[in-house]
Amino acid sequence: MRAFDYVAATRVDDAVAMLGAGTRCLAGGTNLVDLMKGGIEAPSRIVDINRLPLDAIEATPDGGLRVGALVRNSDLANDMRVRRDYPLLSLALLAGATPQLRNMASVGGNLLQRTRCYYFADTAFPACNKRAPGSGCGARAGHNRIHAVLGASEACVAVHPSDMCVALAALDATVVARSRRGERRIAMTAFHRLPGDTPWQDTELADDELVTAVELPPPRYRRHVQYLKLRDRASYAFALVSAAVALDVEGGRVASARIALGGVAHKPWRATDAERALAGQAAGATAFDDAGRRALAGAVPLRDNAFKIGLGERAVSRALTLAMERSVS
Ligand SMILES: Cc1cc2nc3c(=O)[nH]c(=O)nc-3n(C[C@H](O)[C@H](O)[C@H](O)COP(=O)(O)OP(=O)(O)OC[C@H]3O[C@@H](n4cnc5c(N)ncnc54)[C@H](O)[C@@H]3O)c2cc1C
Ligand code: SF4
Repeated sequence: MRAFDYVAATRVDDAVAMLGAGTRCLAGGTNLVDLMKGGIEAPSRIVDINRLPLDAIEATPDGGLRVGALVRNSDLANDMRVRRDYPLLSLALLAGATPQLRNMASVGGNLLQRTRCYYFADTAFPACNKRAPGSGCGARAGHNRIHAVLGASEACVAVHPSDMCVALAALDATVVARSRRGERRIAMTAFHRLPGDTPWQDTELADDELVTAVELPPPRYRRHVQYLKLRDRASYAFALVSAAVALDVEGGRVASARIALGGVAHKPWRATDAERALAGQAAGATAFDDAGRRALAGAVPLRDNAFKIGLGERAVSRALTLAMERSVS
């Protein structure tokens, strides 16, 4: 690990004033510290943000919820308002990592965690455009079982690893960011980027911006929701494919639907075409299977990951079925 300056900020304005190129915030440290130990991240300055007053979950005037960037994943998953009004988010959070990691992991850090591509995570591999721009992509012609089938580019086929973010994308959350220029809001669906020619840019967040909160709109999907995570082990493993679904059902017909997938693209993949097609349909197997096919439309397999297409289709259909079966007291 390279030497770096360490500063602990106690005021948001002070933290923001210290951010810029070569600087990283330290929240739970569960991703950043690993990457620093591995030589993948080498910031010259660490701004410890753990003392900032960003750990509250508060109601917003419009009836939504504002979640501070330092709220820990376990606290968010177990918050009674989240469990009651945004159960999809709670389910997704509890599918991630382990209890110990969730106790440390923050909302901001979860948003900004980096890909689990093996070639990115090991500097012994020279070719990784995300880690070393212009060096090539080791995964494209290498081992790519865990990689993307949607939205990938020649330059990078990595997937975004978060579970929480898939639910946030389905729920139309908004990321709130602060910099010396002021505050701005970024729709969750636009926060993470597709790799294109610049795969080293995971998100739209600039180097000098601090995530201060995530805002949830007023609750709409309380009952028929499901987060289905399919992975190699039943716990302590990242998703090969995941599906976050939410349905509003009236008289047996789908009034509106939300569908997002994880493990298939460089960002949480919102399946808007499948959502539109579901609206007005009878809430059952025919419509759900069709939604699964639409959600994966345009998928392009790599050498080792063609299985993700069928798995993704079935994950969406199954998650919708389970969402319908879910009973809430
Ligand atoms: C063994 C293991 C298994 C895991 N399994 C899963 C899993 O199944 N599903 C899943 O979703 N995740 C999983 N994770 C990832 C885990 O969820 C993340 O490591 C965690 O959410 C990161 O949060 P953190 O607060 O520790 O971030 P940190 O490590 O502190 O920071 C991560 C990045 O975010 C930046 N950052 C943090 N907060 C802010 C902010 N407020 N503003 C701007 N930048 C910020 C940091 O600078 C850094 O670049 C796993 C991790 C491990 C180690
Ligand atoms: S898929 Fe992306 S992260 Fe992985 S080796 Fe290729 S460029 Fe690097």
